[in-house]
Amino acid sequence: MDALDAKYPFFASAREAVASAAVSLPELVATDAPAVDRARERVERALLEGTVASESGAFPGESAYDAQAELLSYPIARILVSLLDSDPAIEKYAAAEAATAVERVRRDLETDDELRSVSTATVGLDDLLAEFDLADAVRPDATAPAGARGAGAAAGGGAGRDPDSYRIDVGPYLRLTSPEWGDSWRLVNRALADGAVRVSREELLAALEAAVEARVAEGLPFELGADEEIAAALESRVADLRRLLSERTYAEPPDVIDRDLFPPCMTNLIHKAENDTELSAAESFALMAFLVGIGMTPDEVVAFCADTSLDAEGIRYQTEFLTDDRGTQYPPPTCETLANYGICHNEGDHMQVAPDPLSYYEKRVAAADDVTDWRADRETDGTGAA
Ligand code: SF4
Repeated sequence: MDALDAKYPFFASAREAVASAAVSLPELVATDAPAVDRARERVERALLEGTVASESGAFPGESAYDAQAELLSYPIARILVSLLDSDPAIEKYAAAEAATAVERVRRDLETDDELRSVSTATVGLDDLLAEFDLADAVRPDATAPAGARGAGAAAGGGAGRDPDSYRIDVGPYLRLTSPEWGDSWRLVNRALADGAVRVSREELLAALEAAVEARVAEGLPFELGADEEIAAALESRVADLRRLLSERTYAEPPDVIDRDLFPPCMTNLIHKAENDTELSAAESFALMAFLVGIGMTPDEVVAFCADTSLDAEGIRYQTEFLTDDRGTQYPPPTCETLANYGICHNEGDHMQVAPDPLSYYEKRVAAADDVTDWRADRETDGTGAA
């Protein structure tokens, strides 16, 4: 097992390394080996944050886990996702594995060629194309004039060649890209010549990300069959993930934003962020899910959290993720889950009042004589959106 397998565990060579390794997954699970905890982290971060990178650091040398635990965490994560048995969870997991992989590829490509030749833990574009049987379908575009990249660029020569321009055969192009990514991806808007489409390097990476995503999603969820023991041993981890992604839905958010009526758990998180303290992944997810749950748009959440440690890009990513249109909106975690994460301290035993922060807030809004809406205040002081 080498560092490259750990970094790209969906590669065929990584699969072979796992198959030929003298380790048994049931045994790893039964002994709660580090790979199991890393697998839980992999799935949890995929579902909550769209990445599978370890929180303990970024590749290379990123993780507190060794290469073996990293690599073996991948098949165990696939088991966890299979046990979750939720299509949206599978989609998000595969998308997160792909996004993380392409992020690593990007970093590898930035590595100086000379360094790459002595480092076995980086991949080049050729390696990646070969991995997905695209070596013959993609080539540098000898006809691309400098500056002419991807969409809309006319075919033809010019002074100098654009080193970041490629041609991909139309079949793989159609298989790996989607017109839903935007008009520029439609074939009619592309420079097409000799059965190949011009793409920039970034566009090629987007197509490769789709290839990784398809490979990761392939075969998920699988039946555990003879591995029922593994399922039993992973039961509590699966239950935690399910709880975290409680699939209850809410008919109507209260549609009023009064900070004074927020539950203590959310107020504490906001104070923490306002004091410039970084929130953990679970804390940030809980807060974002609550704010989205009470009807705030991503723009409003960004404005609401403007003077906190939360950065606008991260907020936007997480809130858009929470409100996407694929039927995967996640309501805020329950009080019980938040207590397990140390976010709820059950002040005044008010866990008795409602099962989750959103219900608690709804009750407080319904009972309040006077409500001050943050949106109205914003418009009055001229900070609201036009
Ligand atoms: S009981 Fe629920 S609503 Fe109240 S602080 Fe805890 S998590 Fe928040």
